[in-house]
Amino acid sequence: MPSNPLAPSAALVASLRQAAAQPQLYDTAALQKLDSAHYLHPFTDYKDLNAKGARVIVRGEGIYLWDSQGKKILDGMSGLWCVNVGYGRTSISEAVYRQMETLPFYNSFFNTTNVPAVQLAAKLVALAPPHFRHVFFTGSGSEANDTNLRMVRRYWELQGQPQRQTVISRHNSYHGSTVAGSALGGMDGMHAQGGLPIPGIVHIGQPNYVEAGRGMTREAFGLLAASWLEDKILELGADRVAAFIGEPVQGAGGVVIPPASYWPEIQRICDKYGVLLIADEVICGFGRLGAWFASGLFGIKPDLITFAKGVTSGYVPLGGVLVGDRVADVLIEKGGDFNHGFTYSGHPVACAAALENIRILEEEKLPQRVATDTGPYLKERFATLADHPLVGYADSCGFVAGLNLVRRKAAVVHDCELFDPQQGVGMICRGYMFGNGMIMRAVGERMIIAPPLVMTRGQIDEMVALIRVCLDATHADVKARGWVE
Ligand SMILES: *Cc1c(COP(=O)(O)O)cnc(C)c1O
Repeated sequence: MPSNPLAPSAALVASLRQAAAQPQLYDTAALQKLDSAHYLHPFTDYKDLNAKGARVIVRGEGIYLWDSQGKKILDGMSGLWCVNVGYGRTSISEAVYRQMETLPFYNSFFNTTNVPAVQLAAKLVALAPPHFRHVFFTGSGSEANDTNLRMVRRYWELQGQPQRQTVISRHNSYHGSTVAGSALGGMDGMHAQGGLPIPGIVHIGQPNYVEAGRGMTREAFGLLAASWLEDKILELGADRVAAFIGEPVQGAGGVVIPPASYWPEIQRICDKYGVLLIADEVICGFGRLGAWFASGLFGIKPDLITFAKGVTSGYVPLGGVLVGDRVADVLIEKGGDFNHGFTYSGHPVACAAALENIRILEEEKLPQRVATDTGPYLKERFATLADHPLVGYADSCGFVAGLNLVRRKAAVVHDCELFDPQQGVGMICRGYMFGNGMIMRAVGERMIIAPPLVMTRGQIDEMVALIRVCLDATHADVKARGWVE
């Protein structure tokens, strides 16, 4: 490989991949036993996992994974919404290797910088809307949202309004799992543990039409859901509100696609009261919805954009905040020291991975492909699942999609009869997906996907057919239990 004398040879890469693909290499039972004995997984019921044993994933290529028993799995979730360019991208591993050989680490404290961090900051600014000229790097999306909290409060202190401290977020949103990230998020299960949310963070309802829009058009409901923000600002007093934060499309909350009327109205309300707007694009950015950043698609001009996941396609952890001129100018001109940052802010290896990942996204025009070709095709194919007896509602936006499992269908989505949540039909369905080599996530009875952006039309057909097989299996199962007619 002449372009990269330090990279491992193609033959070595091929032999490593081939080795990883040999199921006889792995003693799955022993790995599961060690896993249970020592590894506390994130968001996991340990007793339950230890009883079943974890699935050991050993290799990835394109949109597929393989487990330690040699089973091939179609990864409909891009890992955790992040592997946008697919698995097995040698050019990213080479970029990482090259950077590790040159400079594996140096910090950006004490007036120092490094080459990949500088290049990546400039690249991100070039891709972002024009009012963004600065980037703050972190190690993850959670840390980026912690940064947002500190940055908006600092902004208002510098503006002589230190009482503007409260950030408004939404129920069922996800903004990470650090203390501030989980407080900003609106997940009941997270707030129920460990004294969350922390003071200075409040929540309003989410723009979930299926759940709350009965008797209304989508557009009227979108305006209503946005008005909850104005109600909350007036209740708190506009002079106490620092910012509003939201995901353009809620991801972990179940792929909640807001009505088109929602975001422009949110923007209008933020402008009216001078409230800063934070778009958490950790999932929505880097081509996932068919653009580098999704804010423009929804008609908003945020002051801060959170990014992570797709910026490196998950190959190496990296997150950050794009800081718009309104905030950056004040921090720079009036701020003095900003007493915040991380050891790994601007990590050279992570930034090198991001630069190569972005180069691939550009070269293969993946955001455009999602916007004009594979995204519309996924929408069309995914919508065909709505004729299944268990599916009450199916929708998609770019390369995220979801469907609602219901007990009895109805012409109007609000009239569908729902399953008793205690029955766990979503988890039953997820089990059939796993069993059939398909990763689809369950959020209650909503089944969701966020496939790698490299997925072809043929692979979309393959995935939708696989999902249908699993829906059939789920249907037969719940019928046998007497939960549907
Ligand atoms: C995943 C996610 C985060 C948190 O990112 P981590 O890298 O897991 O800390 C924040 N916001 C959104 C919208 C996410 O999906």
